[in-house]
Amino acid sequence: MAAHSLFLSRLKPPQRLELEQRLLARQSGVCFLCEEPIDFQLQADMLEIDHIVPVASGGKDEENNFGLTHEACNRKKSASDLRVARVMMRFAKIEDSADAGQGANLGDVLKAYGGGTKPLRMIRDGSTVRYSIPSEGGAPIVTLPLWRDRLSEMEYFFAVLPLTYLHHDERINPRNIGANLRGLVEEFHQKRPQLHVALAWWNPEKGDEGNVNVFDGQHKAAAQILLGAKDLPVRVFLRPDLKVLLEANTNAGDKLRQVAFDSAVKRHLGSALYYERVQEYQHLRHLPPEDFSFSEADLVKLFRGEHRELIKYIVDAVRDSITRDANNKLMDFVQWAGKGYEKPLAYSSIEKTFYSQFLYMKPTDTPLNAGLEIGSNPRQLEKEQMIRLMSLFAEVFFAGQWDAEMGGFKLEDRVLKGEPIPPQHLRAWRIGREEVLANILDWVRFAIESFYAVNMEKVDKGRLMHHRFPEVLWGTLENVLRNIGDLPCWVDTKLAQTIFGGKPPRDFWKKIFKDGVSPTGIRVLAQGLELKSLVTPKGE
Ligand SMILES: [Zn+2]
Repeated sequence: MAAHSLFLSRLKPPQRLELEQRLLARQSGVCFLCEEPIDFQLQADMLEIDHIVPVASGGKDEENNFGLTHEACNRKKSASDLRVARVMMRFAKIEDSADAGQGANLGDVLKAYGGGTKPLRMIRDGSTVRYSIPSEGGAPIVTLPLWRDRLSEMEYFFAVLPLTYLHHDERINPRNIGANLRGLVEEFHQKRPQLHVALAWWNPEKGDEGNVNVFDGQHKAAAQILLGAKDLPVRVFLRPDLKVLLEANTNAGDKLRQVAFDSAVKRHLGSALYYERVQEYQHLRHLPPEDFSFSEADLVKLFRGEHRELIKYIVDAVRDSITRDANNKLMDFVQWAGKGYEKPLAYSSIEKTFYSQFLYMKPTDTPLNAGLEIGSNPRQLEKEQMIRLMSLFAEVFFAGQWDAEMGGFKLEDRVLKGEPIPPQHLRAWRIGREEVLANILDWVRFAIESFYAVNMEKVDKGRLMHHRFPEVLWGTLENVLRNIGDLPCWVDTKLAQTIFGGKPPRDFWKKIFKDGVSPTGIRVLAQGLELKSLVTPKGE
């Protein structure tokens, strides 16, 4: 919104233009928000003047408190304080350039600000450490006391380090920096200090040199960097046992709930732990690091005491690789954490449907590296085919149909109130419900099993994804999805109150698909689904 300003409303056009020119000069020729150039000739009628500190928050209605922005930037700003909005826009740019559109983490922020480029050379001397960081003022030697954590016996020191020497530990802390960044930026703007120091570890990789890897406190670190900090205070653990740090961080999410970990991230930690065990196996068996000629079952056998954890790590690793693959089109429509309405699918639903219905949850006895080149490795096939199946759902039900602006907040209520909702948007929302998705997947499974039965091929039903589907089966599955998508119930506004009103159990939709009638006696489909017609191409 343009500012409601008495000052501005009194200006005549030439005065307004002069003011805009003065502001632009003060801003070095760039938009206050996006920090990209403003071109007066091109964009004269696409500019806005707004209060930097909103009048509602005590900002004055005077020239010092005005910022000149592109109209578009001011319309989509994410905070009323232009300084906060500008920082959030910097972050949005970093998110856009981060890979796979999966958000950004401290590593991406560091990279954007020239951080994370240098290792730190450091010498330990009794109960001190010393290092030297060159700066404009020379290269003073810094000597710091080394402390010992009484409980874990780990050693650490406190330091303030330039960004160039700070790296992000993606393995221990794979979390993305989410929307709560704004709250922190606002805090810092009000001159409130950072209350927690970021945690990092250092381990020399060659000689006395090693990276300082930040593994905790990334939100606060990122907020400070975006606000222009050139160095950060850190507590650095010296040569710690990384397994202990990893487990401490996993437990923080699992048990202590200190951090609002979303489950996808817990999985990622799970895979890091899995990889640790793989390395340990190689070590114990005296295998070189490139030797993966042992199976999941071998691992489970060797680490018998951790049987249950290990299986969890294995399955988590599979899930994680599917979730994070850039080719998985469905993830564009998945809300990562918390309750949101911009996207039709919740990550927890993906786990409870696609993953729990199709992934093989036991250790396989094929060597980890078997058939990788020819594409017959079962876990690799599982990943590949899951991504293809999920992307097919994206294509049939969501892509170009779901309108993120319109969102899903109280959508069925809005339907009831007569708000015009495009049918494909409503359908995407309804298909995205966990109980609906689960039942569609049951029919997908039914179609796959029937396909093999008709062809008299014997397949292990627990391991469907470990067989390569022939192309004709993919065609069949697409038919099934498109035919299900054509059912009128997804766009029937009259069903907003009855069928789509509450959150029914899965069996509710199981019965509807089977009989056409809900357990509560409402007719939803003209008749129950029949596989024979579902597998037939649309319109035949
Ligand atoms: Zn702009």
